[in-house]
Amino acid sequence: MDTKIGVYVCKGCDIGKSLDVDKLLEAAKEKEAAVCKAHDALCAPEGVQMIRDDVEKEGLNRVSVAACSQRVFPELFEFGKDVLTDRANLREHVAWCHTPNDEDTQMLGDDYIRMSVARLKVAAPPEPFIEETSKDIMVIGGGVTGMTAAAAASGAGYKVTLVENQPHLGGWAARFRKVFPKHPPYRDLEDSQCNELIERIKQDDNITVHLSTTVAKTDGQPGKFNVTLKSANGSSELTVGSIIQATGWKPYDANKLTHLGYGSSPDIITNIQMEDMAREGKIIRPSDSRPIDSIAFIQCAGSRDQDHLPYCSAVCCRTSLKQAMYVRAQYPDAKIYIIYKDIRTPAQFEMFYANVQNDDAVFLTKGEIAKVAADNGKIVVDVEETLLGEDIQVEADMVVLATGMVPTTKVETIEPAVTADNPGTETAEETAEGTMADGKKAAAGAEKGAHIINLSYRQGTDLPTLKYGFPDSHFICFPYETRRTAIYAAGAVRAPMDLASSADDAYGAALKAIQAVNAVAEGRAVHPRAGDQTYPEFMMQKCTQCKRCTEECPFGALDEDDKGTPLPNPFRCRRCGVCLGACPERIISFKNYSIHMISQMIKAVEVPDEFEEKPRLLAFVCENDAMPSVDMAGLKRLQYNSMVRIIPLRCLGSMNAIWVSDALSRGFDGVLLIGCKKGDDYQCHFIKGSELAHIRMENVREKLQQLVLEEERVEIHELAISDYHKLPKIFDDFLETINSVGMNPYKGM
Ligand code: SF4
Ligand code: SF4
Repeated sequence: MDTKIGVYVCKGCDIGKSLDVDKLLEAAKEKEAAVCKAHDALCAPEGVQMIRDDVEKEGLNRVSVAACSQRVFPELFEFGKDVLTDRANLREHVAWCHTPNDEDTQMLGDDYIRMSVARLKVAAPPEPFIEETSKDIMVIGGGVTGMTAAAAASGAGYKVTLVENQPHLGGWAARFRKVFPKHPPYRDLEDSQCNELIERIKQDDNITVHLSTTVAKTDGQPGKFNVTLKSANGSSELTVGSIIQATGWKPYDANKLTHLGYGSSPDIITNIQMEDMAREGKIIRPSDSRPIDSIAFIQCAGSRDQDHLPYCSAVCCRTSLKQAMYVRAQYPDAKIYIIYKDIRTPAQFEMFYANVQNDDAVFLTKGEIAKVAADNGKIVVDVEETLLGEDIQVEADMVVLATGMVPTTKVETIEPAVTADNPGTETAEETAEGTMADGKKAAAGAEKGAHIINLSYRQGTDLPTLKYGFPDSHFICFPYETRRTAIYAAGAVRAPMDLASSADDAYGAALKAIQAVNAVAEGRAVHPRAGDQTYPEFMMQKCTQCKRCTEECPFGALDEDDKGTPLPNPFRCRRCGVCLGACPERIISFKNYSIHMISQMIKAVEVPDEFEEKPRLLAFVCENDAMPSVDMAGLKRLQYNSMVRIIPLRCLGSMNAIWVSDALSRGFDGVLLIGCKKGDDYQCHFIKGSELAHIRMENVREKLQQLVLEEERVEIHELAISDYHKLPKIFDDFLETINSVGMNPYKGM
């Protein structure tokens, strides 16, 4: 169908006072827009109605709204599924941050109108990818998190399959004698109510429970995951739409805590061993089964320690306070020592802490553990740097090490050396414990993987993880998301947390899983481009099977055949465009985002010739953090030079190097790339996009060399939303750099 474009310029919010609106409409007409009109306030009902009427009467199928940011009133300017709307931002990016009624400000506004029309000429409305999908949900892990998620999804009317590798439900909660106080006055221990939850799950007709079962394989994509379950009774298959991984945590391996005496005496135990003993109803000294007169708890045993677990597990302090109360109940006269680095009992748990602290039999002190050793039937703990500034020695019948939490997703390296009678072998049959199918130990140095979800994705079998083994996600904005679309992590596998927080987490993940199955059924992205119905299309005839896209997709959306040809899985896709940025053949495009489209926008800018001495700078700006930051600069009326033309990108990782050469060949004097923070504390909404953009700067430098242009003509910056105040300086400093380098010699060619 032919495109018929309408351009609508808003005169409100100072736009009409800063710019010559007739000239803006003229710029649109020159670009062959069919209808060009201005209005005092496009967002007013009459303004919107004017556009609606034109869409109907004039048969417009493309609309440019030249007004405020695309982040303002997005739904207001939607005119039906066959009409594509673009927003030219004349308010935050022009009128509010540049000198009014100035020649350069007008040229900027005119260019944004031309760029918008150029975009609309080549872009098309999305055509959603829709197939028959399942709305069933699978939950892996039958602890409190998994059961709560299953019950929540079932309560919302969804069928749930709950898979637990143990022969019973309950997870850690079933092993706990008591849990932290959940009700006012938050002073006393409570029952976990795990059994009630188990009963509820058993009674729920919407939930099918598989015990002593593991997930052998997960194939396919959101909406149609084909899952193979394995148990002693054989295997079974099912199809589900989304998955919640609630596989929880394991305790840090106390065998690594020899410096705290673990292994040197049976009376030095972990908090897990203590809990098991308490649940059995009898806390006794393990070495001789005698009652205890004194006990010492050592906090942060391996936690907040660069040689072990550098992070805080959030619950161990409360666990020791809880276990101190067990001891108090059984032995009213026992002396209890708790030695900590810091006591961390956030929120209402401070009341619980105060309750234990007020007990005269409980002695709490800050201190560094110098030595823990068995001596003459006692365990002697040497403590340095105590609160009183003195070194002290504590003698106790028993010591409890408060060990931390390790996510079940952590892949670990096998440490014990192989022996002559148990030679190590590395085979694909390795299990989660690092033991081979034939019972042999894996070779030292081999990795024992999580092997929980067993994805058949090209990029690996399990959820990609962060440094300490927790599933990688955008930890600020999208806590339950993982890097595998429609697979959500919840509970202590996601971050160290207690049972109450795990239950809250389960609700969040259940809602995400429900949202995913419904979005997928409509061919929509779940996040972060929520609702987006476009997806990457590949012109396979020109593919050279270089594998760049399949390797660089941050979400494992692309598998490949034996020759390396990409096999897209559209429902796994987050629509970031990283593949588009990666492809050297430039054969990947979206209906409304493509190499051609951005190239046309670049060409639409009127670049003055070298004699006018008006440089032109192009800024490719990531629309997730950096673009809102540019909008904020406008809202705050921060002023910067009007030589910069901004093009929003889905992600800086979608920046294809050809756009830089296009801009420089077109006569732009410099190109800025502005994206989110990368690195360990990344803020990139697509995880790897910003980092990839930095890596691809090498290609850009090569391009500059080929064009015999100075390196200074391209700069890359990281920007958070809160960094908006830095923008004027970035833009103005870059202009200064370009002025010192000189005009682009390709101008006018
Ligand atoms: S758009 Fe992003 S998520 Fe989708 S295939 Fe390309 S790189 Fe992967
Ligand atoms: S990056 Fe482009 S050329 Fe390379 S495999 Fe992917 S589609 Fe083919």
